[in-house]
Amino acid sequence: MAAVPPPLDPAIAVALRDLTKVYRSGRQGAKTALDAVSLAVPRGSFFGLLGPNGAGKSTLINILAGLATKTAGQAVVWGYDIDSDPRQARAAIGVVPQELMIDPFFTPREALEIHAGYFGVPAAERRTDEIFAAVGLTEVADAYARQLSGGMRRRLMVAKALVHAPPILVLDEPTAGVDVELRHQLWTYVRALNAGGTTVLLTTHYLEEAEQLCDRIAIIDRGRVVACDTTAALVKRLDHKTLTITAGEDIAAVPPALARFEVEIKPFRRVIVRYRPSQTPIGAILAAVQAAGISIHDLTTEEADLEDIFIELTRKDGRAA
Ligand code: ADP
Ligand code: MG
Repeated sequence: MAAVPPPLDPAIAVALRDLTKVYRSGRQGAKTALDAVSLAVPRGSFFGLLGPNGAGKSTLINILAGLATKTAGQAVVWGYDIDSDPRQARAAIGVVPQELMIDPFFTPREALEIHAGYFGVPAAERRTDEIFAAVGLTEVADAYARQLSGGMRRRLMVAKALVHAPPILVLDEPTAGVDVELRHQLWTYVRALNAGGTTVLLTTHYLEEAEQLCDRIAIIDRGRVVACDTTAALVKRLDHKTLTITAGEDIAAVPPALARFEVEIKPFRRVIVRYRPSQTPIGAILAAVQAAGISIHDLTTEEADLEDIFIELTRKDGRAA
């Protein structure tokens, strides 16, 4: 393993301060892809960078990977500033870029060996076969890369990112256009790496994926951070819940005992109550339901999910938090 010393602030894996990127190549003039982004990715976290297409996710990742240059601001990776210690900063992360970049004339094994050489991993410390097994490429390790399917190429990108056993793994939309089986395999493996201490930074525009995998989430929109919190706190932020009761009998109209709540009577004996958990304890609702003489056959509650938060925070009317 290419040993990378621990970060200066042992709690932070990636720290960004006012990171700004202006593309000047575009025909329409300058495009600000990142607008003073400040973020701290805690060491050991499974961090989600979430945002719609064009938000600036890949630009941020590519700056960390050394594939794009920043316009202003600071980026510190594992304690190393990417300006003053670019080599150490690069060695601390393994990046799986969004774009598939595969040299068709090398076999996966050759590609991994070249990559290991680039990072100075001694032959005795290379874990080529272990990595191939983990990403499911053992059988095609010696085939030409041009013969690999899109899914296998994606796996090879992941394998390359892991070659130097980086303490930080960065995945830029790794499951876009990837089949369900590979997605499942990939997450099982990445979760295991995270459990073993690897910090994972994932970009995605799949909310469900982020909600299931990440312990912290930053939402960016048009180059700005609009939210950054634990996944649980983000979900809690909306403070909306829906209680659905299936009654034991038919209900014609909202009973007076429930009039003070936001109640809807639906077919199949369902009573829907929308409430704010911070203001209305569910016990008060259930007591009122009983006072109304409704017997509870069954009940479910539903929380707001990230989709709601995402829409709320990135609304085009600019009411960003
Ligand atoms: P995301 O990964 O969140 O979809 P990107 O970082 O790819 O977003 O893009 C952010 C913005 O920067 C977009 O408006 C995109 O069109 C623009 N952009 C990205 N790369 C370039 C480039 N090489 N030249 C000019 N503009 C770019
Ligand atoms: Mg992208």
